[in-house]
Amino acid sequence: MKIIVQKYGGTSVGDTERIKNVARRICRAKEPGVGLVVVVSAMGGTTDELIRQAQEITPEPSEREMDQLISTGEQISSALLAMAVQHDGSDAVSLTGIQVGILTDDSHTKARIFKIEPEKILESLDEDKIVIVAGFQGFNPKKDITTLGRGGSDTTAVALAAVLEADVCEIYTDVDGVYTADPRIIPDAVKLDKISYDEMLELASLGAKVIQNRAVEFAKKFNVTLHVRSSFNEVQGTFVSEEADTMSMEKVVIRGVTYNKEEAKLTITMVPDTPGVAARIFKTIADGNINVDMIIQNVSAEGFTDLSFTVPRPELVKARELVEEISRDIGAGAVSVEDEIAKVSIVGVGMKSHPGVAATMFEALAEEKINIMMISTSEIKISCVVRSDDGERAARAIHKAFGLDQE
Ligand code: ADP
Ligand code: ASP
Ligand code: MG
Repeated sequence: MKIIVQKYGGTSVGDTERIKNVARRICRAKEPGVGLVVVVSAMGGTTDELIRQAQEITPEPSEREMDQLISTGEQISSALLAMAVQHDGSDAVSLTGIQVGILTDDSHTKARIFKIEPEKILESLDEDKIVIVAGFQGFNPKKDITTLGRGGSDTTAVALAAVLEADVCEIYTDVDGVYTADPRIIPDAVKLDKISYDEMLELASLGAKVIQNRAVEFAKKFNVTLHVRSSFNEVQGTFVSEEADTMSMEKVVIRGVTYNKEEAKLTITMVPDTPGVAARIFKTIADGNINVDMIIQNVSAEGFTDLSFTVPRPELVKARELVEEISRDIGAGAVSVEDEIAKVSIVGVGMKSHPGVAATMFEALAEEKINIMMISTSEIKISCVVRSDDGERAARAIHKAFGLDQE
């Protein structure tokens, strides 16, 4: 049987009219001999609203209850969509994460999928039912509900496509595909016909939320072709796949620009410059299950150094507590935080073989009189942290400097 996995994001199922529209699309795709698995997000804004309500009850809700709460959004949209499909005369069944056997680790609110036991999906497909899966959720070995991090329905879809060996995984969203930058911030951004896993992974990890980075990791690992496209038209979107033709890829120096204001910066002053100190600081943060992104250590003076790094903004309070404690233990100075920051990045595999890319990026920022607070690079990306007020202007200037709007 040919299997297609489709995923519809929050805007696409944003109200009951849109859910009916999606149901019509699904029924059209359900040709004889095709097994159709549809993953849905919560109706647009629902997850944010649930998080807001939890914050009204307590500033630090337990993570287990948080997952019980925020997983409900997808249960609503999947049931409504199944009803809409049934109303249109096709057979459909909605299933939650537990029902489709999505087993995860224990990290509530950002769980990782261990394995999937898709028996129930396979049974339903055998009965020729359209299977509608609540995205974003799984369960841990204790049978508690977990969620896969914001945007996690993408990962549900790709993981299911991988275990079911689907022909394609279609990600339906509210833009026509993957662009050279977020088209809402840079209207001149250009849609890409195709992009490699590695570039998509960097773009997603650096803030292009059009697809969750873990979804791209899965797609790369299991060689699932993704087609990112709009649920509101029939236009062909962007294919994300392994790029065979690396020569032609490397001609394109920069594939895209991202902008991310979801991080915050912590600085520890007067850190004793002795072996093992950085290890202790970052081990403490890692034990708190917090991902550190950029790290800068200043040149040491008289046996002390300053250390700055960034963490996801929602983790700032927890990170600060941990860092203040460890700073006291190691005899470091004050801890300061800065959350008015934005990170702008450029991504492209062609960077490996073209000199002067960083210089072009920094010149673009200099011309706009934008100060760079932190820099980090890898083989295929360069990121700069700037003041959040400057972020969008920085992204536009860089996009222009690399001629991305003229493709
Ligand atoms: P969904 O609810 O369908 O998952 P998201 O809001 O998570 O949709 O992701 C789609 C959004 O991603 C778009 O509306 C767009 O603003 C944003 N986006 C950021 N970077 C890019 C990019 N490079 N290309 C396309 N969209 C992008
Ligand atoms: N509803 C979840 C979120 O808003 C998951 C998703 O939309 O993919 O993050
Ligand atoms: Mg999303």
